[in-house]
Amino acid sequence: MSDPSQASIDPPTPSERLSEMARQLVQFRDERDWKQFHNPKDQALSLVLEAAELLELFQWKNGEELERHLQEHREDLADELADVLGWLLLISADRNINLAGAFQRKLAKNHAKYPADVVKGSAKKYTEYKSSGDADRA
Ligand SMILES: [Mg+2]
Repeated sequence: MSDPSQASIDPPTPSERLSEMARQLVQFRDERDWKQFHNPKDQALSLVLEAAELLELFQWKNGEELERHLQEHREDLADELADVLGWLLLISADRNINLAGAFQRKLAKNHAKYPADVVKGSAKKYTEYKSSGDADRA
């Protein structure tokens, strides 16, 4: 006979964590009756607007000044990253997309597009490697 106190000791998988976060956001939205405003276009706009708020933390600063600014505004940075993630979670939940699975599939595609032995140390886009062969292979 199994011990019920030992039933759920495994930590949640990344997919389970993202699903729980999305569930919390949907609950937050439903408690406020905001789904009526969440059409796909405005959700995508909101995602980009939050990304723009993230960018504001970087605007007009470079080098050491930027590093110092980001240290001093660490919570603001975390808030904006969380806002961006929130929209990603809501859009993927409403579109019935498993975000963790999508991330893994996209990472696999990027492995194929950017083989480490071909692109290491280069910032070129994958299309530049295709058009110029393996130009950066040293
Ligand atoms: Mg924000």
